Amino acid sequence: MSRQKKLNVLFASFEAVPFFKSGGLGDVAGTLPAYINSSLYDVRVILPKLKAIPKRFADKMEYLCNYEVPLGWRRQYCGLFRLRYKGVTYYFLDNEFYFFRNNAYGEFDDGERIAFFSKAVLETIAHLPDFKPDILHCNDWHTALCPVFLRAHYSGIPSYDGIKTIFTVHNLKFQGQYSDYLYGDILGLEGYPAGDTILRGYGGGRSVNYLQGALLCSDRITTVSPSYADEICGEYYGEQMDGIFRARRGVLSGILNGIDYKLFDPEHDPLIAENFGPDSLGKKKANKLALQKELGLEESEEVPVFALISRLTEQKGLDLLTYILPDLMGRKMQLVILGIGDRKYEEAFSWYAGKYPSKMAAVLSFDEALSHRIYAGADAVLIPSRFEPCGLTQMMAMRYGSLPVVRETGGLRDSVIPYNKYTGEGTGFSFANFNAGELLDAMDKAMELYSHPRKWAAVQKNAMAQDFSWHTSAKKYRQLYRELAGK
Ligand code: ADP
Repeated sequence: MSRQKKLNVLFASFEAVPFFKSGGLGDVAGTLPAYINSSLYDVRVILPKLKAIPKRFADKMEYLCNYEVPLGWRRQYCGLFRLRYKGVTYYFLDNEFYFFRNNAYGEFDDGERIAFFSKAVLETIAHLPDFKPDILHCNDWHTALCPVFLRAHYSGIPSYDGIKTIFTVHNLKFQGQYSDYLYGDILGLEGYPAGDTILRGYGGGRSVNYLQGALLCSDRITTVSPSYADEICGEYYGEQMDGIFRARRGVLSGILNGIDYKLFDPEHDPLIAENFGPDSLGKKKANKLALQKELGLEESEEVPVFALISRLTEQKGLDLLTYILPDLMGRKMQLVILGIGDRKYEEAFSWYAGKYPSKMAAVLSFDEALSHRIYAGADAVLIPSRFEPCGLTQMMAMRYGSLPVVRETGGLRDSVIPYNKYTGEGTGFSFANFNAGELLDAMDKAMELYSHPRKWAAVQKNAMAQDFSWHTSAKKYRQLYRELAGK
């Protein structure tokens, strides 16, 4: 048997825990590499040096060098910093004009900032002191231009020879679509055939779409669950990219994400009122009472507590939830919302929480510690998403014995087994269509089961026995890297 060679992977992302996170991408980028790394795999993560990165990390970063990044006719400064954290090497790209902003996303010049990041990732490859990647693993639209620039501007240069690219879609909704004035002026792609991969025509005009470029230029495309990989090949979920996914189905696959089992561990979590496990589920009650007390809800073990921990956007199926709020408030249940996002949802939730303070609480902020207390204290967690590439919330909920109520889509379908009242099998509750009545029906089934504590506890145990640790996914990524690198 031939001995396998060590594979080097540069994992490019705009966010990673614990440095900065706005959603699931941050969890994945900050957790997966550590699970892949071994004597045969060296995965290093490359990130922007954002203002939001806590000082305790920024102070520990080691400055390596600086160089210029060509962006159209511009030459922009890029400083390279390195930090080793929990066994993983992180590179941070510094340019205060682009990254030292109050918001990581949503700035008026995102098109340029993001293009700078992708270009800087490529330019950095030639400046890494001891690391030549075999694979450049890009994630979401923030790094979608990397495979395009690699083809257009770096082919034939020895330090880039043989680098293979993977593009992982965490969320297809965000594509980086801009006016084509960026095309030549910022991106410098005028006259390069690979540049055409980002062009789209609209009503006689042109626009650029960063994500489309990655889908056409990457050697492999992955997404974060097998079901979502199928779904995006169709028009409903494809976000206008379904034609490309169908054409490239042979290089498209889905690998389910995992969660950090050390961080989300009810038996040792220091953030929750009382630690518990599948054999000491009684102690979960203390967390429920503590949560009810903290949020001013009626303190009662008998009333089932449903929770929603989410970005408050249309994707998350909140229209279904707001539609049935009047019905829910008439039932014996409590509802806890933790989230920030669109004003219409924030206002609806806070209005109902104000009207029914002993039954409903809405905390409109991003609060990691509170999210742990809710996973531990809730009985059920709602994820009625319109689409869900993978979803981590349902896995976190199951880990803490809180049963997920989900819509059967994407990763929710791949990770939650619907409760079967005849066999007792299942790890949660689900419904198929994007319909408020179906959500209410699934919640009613959950409430019904909750009134039978022994049966409820059996399903909690099923949920807690599932393995959503990163080990399984890490194995699949290793296989993919190996296959792609051909060594
Ligand atoms: P998405 O990436 O679409 O936002 P995921 O389910 O993949 O959804 O990941 C969401 C992550 O963000 C989970 O870890 C969840 O606990 C966390 N989260 C979402 N909203 C909040 C919030 N307001 N406060 C704390 N954590 C949150």
